Amino acid sequence: MELKKEKPILGKCPVCGGDIVESSFGFCCKGTLKNGKKCGFSIRHELRGVKMEEPIVKQLLECGSTDDVEMTNKYGKPYRGHFIIDEGKVGVEQARHYLKGRCPLCGGRMLKTAKGYECENSCDPRRPKTCSFKANGILCNRMITESEMELYLSGKPQNVLDGFVTRDGKVFSSILETNAELQCVSLTAVVGKCPSCGGELRIKDRTFKCENYKDEKEPCKFQAWRHISGHEITLQEIEEIRLSGMTKEPVELYRDDGSIYFKHLGLSEDKTHITILTD
Ligand SMILES: [Zn+2]
Ligand SMILES: [Zn+2]
Ligand SMILES: [Zn+2]
Repeated sequence: MELKKEKPILGKCPVCGGDIVESSFGFCCKGTLKNGKKCGFSIRHELRGVKMEEPIVKQLLECGSTDDVEMTNKYGKPYRGHFIIDEGKVGVEQARHYLKGRCPLCGGRMLKTAKGYECENSCDPRRPKTCSFKANGILCNRMITESEMELYLSGKPQNVLDGFVTRDGKVFSSILETNAELQCVSLTAVVGKCPSCGGELRIKDRTFKCENYKDEKEPCKFQAWRHISGHEITLQEIEEIRLSGMTKEPVELYRDDGSIYFKHLGLSEDKTHITILTD
């Protein structure tokens, strides 16, 4: 029998604690079980289309799981997942899809789920359940897209979301807000502060309107079109107008003949609407 070199030890066996070394078919345990039998723990050279090389095997033995890698399922389709040690065997867990942005209540990562979006500390069975924050993927018959949810989670000014429908068929617009009590995302018509009086600014079908519009003592007649010369006014721009009377940057506008021009938008002199400012 020819002498073989000592093979390097890649890690400890999760079943018996013995040494794991490379073998002809992959990696195997050299240890023995308590009953005196040889331990059967092994990792094949190829699993789910992934070449199992030293670094990933070491990571699996050391941490009990690997990073997500590109795998191939039995239909030959690619998917992302990671290897885990599960009850003394190598198993696979499908990758989870995390959104950009964090849970507004606990700072956990947000996952895409069957019903929408949910905090990892609420729905991931591998973590202790310390949070219940979730957001339905469909609110009032309208899908909340991933990018809309990510913008909301970023804390930056949102875009107005159109196309929600009430139970009795009325279409309305809204933005997202966190209901801390119910630990979920709900809708609100309050989209900012009135640039004229600082009261609540509400979103209507075609306009932004001050909550004090019909106030009997001190009415505020601020009401602005949501669209002006081909430009959709953003909540960011309304906030800029409230703070300094005009938008930070000129916005792109369109004339009736199709030509494009740039102007700042600002509060009208009588403070009742938003207007295109002349230089
Ligand atoms: Zn073993
Ligand atoms: Zn959370
Ligand atoms: Zn007002």
